[in-house]
Amino acid sequence: MIPFSPPDIRDEDIDAVVSVLTSGWITSGPVGRTLSDELAAWCDTPDAVLVSSATTGLEAVLRFLGVGPGDEVITTSYTYSASAAAIAHVGARPILLDTAPGSFVPEPAAYAHALTERTAAVLPVDLGGVPYDYVALREALHDAGADVPIIADAAHSLGAERTGVRSGALADFTVFSFHAVKNLTTAEGGAITWRSRSDPNLVVPEALEGLDDAEVARQLTLGILHGQSKSALDKTRAGSWEYDIEQLGHKANMPDILAALGLSQLRRYEQTLARRAELVAAYDRALAPLGVTSLAHEGDDFTSSRHLYLVELPGDADRDAAHALEQRRNAIIMGLAERGVMANVHYKPLPLLRAYRDLGWNIADFPHAYRQYCGVISLPLHTLLTDEQVDEVADALEAELTASR
Ligand SMILES: *Cc1c(COP(=O)(O)O)cnc(C)c1O
Repeated sequence: MIPFSPPDIRDEDIDAVVSVLTSGWITSGPVGRTLSDELAAWCDTPDAVLVSSATTGLEAVLRFLGVGPGDEVITTSYTYSASAAAIAHVGARPILLDTAPGSFVPEPAAYAHALTERTAAVLPVDLGGVPYDYVALREALHDAGADVPIIADAAHSLGAERTGVRSGALADFTVFSFHAVKNLTTAEGGAITWRSRSDPNLVVPEALEGLDDAEVARQLTLGILHGQSKSALDKTRAGSWEYDIEQLGHKANMPDILAALGLSQLRRYEQTLARRAELVAAYDRALAPLGVTSLAHEGDDFTSSRHLYLVELPGDADRDAAHALEQRRNAIIMGLAERGVMANVHYKPLPLLRAYRDLGWNIADFPHAYRQYCGVISLPLHTLLTDEQVDEVADALEAELTASR
């Protein structure tokens, strides 16, 4: 079986984790601090706050920005539930957008169009590792007279760039995921970064305008660690037991056991990206004769982190044709499985899921997202994949495309 996205765990990762386990300090501490520093250096951001997942990281940013009941946050329907669920978790209403025709993401203008006086932030997703066009989005919001904060769901895009700026420094706030299937993993985990407070284009609500970068880091950290004025590690220093609870914070910190895994992976992440680029190029070459298109991981002004290899089957956009395409796509995925290839679908648009239907969203209002979903197949893409396996996957896909015609 060719697995879809197994973790690539090497001896150096295991050694790093074991050394934390035997060090006498296993939860948040010095290793996490080093990971924050190296991540911030990598992304060219003032700092990075480590969290237990991208979901809790998005929640922490929303709470930090004061988003809550009565507010709306605009995001895409074409994403994993976490993007929208985080908005609901802070009591705000997720506003879902359809994608642009033939695209996996909504246009910047669609975000601007959905603005209301209740809009507290917008939350685009860097789908498949392609960084969203945050410059165009900021312009569209500005032209519509609503300079609300932009929060990037960058679960896929660590290491991606647009106009020479790394993911992490592209949006006002950025949240990465280090879940087991992502490009870089801590098993479960994530990180929050933000653009430097000295950046004149940064947008935050008025109440937060006076804060410097250190204060942003301090407040985000309080928000995910009980609002406690002193970390657990600082409290262990002799005579240093005293602390205050400054706010009723949540609990979403990353332990050093997991940070050690992340740090070890970050130190070879340049090679990870290079290998993923080779694999994507190999897929592009092998699939070129098959009459399918794939998500572009490079463009005039961007390079993606190449998180997902999305194949798009040709087909019409009307609802019946899309439904027929969905059936064919499902048959192809079953056929691939029989040939030993684990494929996947990214994503089932949120209005197809019960919890979002219960919130009042109807897939009939998302024709473009529905069409994209019906024709999409995600192929295995990970650093344990060999060049030969890329060819095996391509051959299996070719056979299934022919068989399902
Ligand atoms: C994986 C993922 C998340 C959630 O990440 P967690 O770390 O598991 O919370 C959010 N958004 C997208 C697009 C994802 O793929």
